[in-house]
Amino acid sequence: MIYKGRCYCKEVEFEFDDPIHSQILCHCRECRYLSGGEPNASIIISEDKFRVTRGKLKTFAREDLHKPRIRYFCANCGTHICVKSPPRPGMLVVKVGTLDDHSWFKPQTAIYCIDKQPFHQIPEGVSTFDTTPPRK
Ligand SMILES: [Zn+2]
Ligand SMILES: [Zn+2]
Repeated sequence: MIYKGRCYCKEVEFEFDDPIHSQILCHCRECRYLSGGEPNASIIISEDKFRVTRGKLKTFAREDLHKPRIRYFCANCGTHICVKSPPRPGMLVVKVGTLDDHSWFKPQTAIYCIDKQPFHQIPEGVSTFDTTPPRK
């Protein structure tokens, strides 16, 4: 299956193929800056399955952090589309809200619940972790 998405202003379009490795809700402080306050709803895919089909993504990484995440966004409207995280080489975390259809999204895992705010609600049946699930 091919999934398609875009930024808010439509200057950047992208697509990617299966598989989707996981579907997550991240409650960390960093994600709240980017989501506006709610947990970040994301999926993890293989980096080599991701293609920008229109426009260009700009990158940003904080210089004051050791091994910062690399964030990809539209330079025109600022929509944050995906993130590369150094502990997960070859993987890309994509924000589900940028997908044309994300009605199928069903989080399995809630991460960084240690930072969860009182107004955050985790759906029933979702596994919760203080930080990230232990490595398999
Ligand atoms: Zn844009
Ligand atoms: Zn996060």
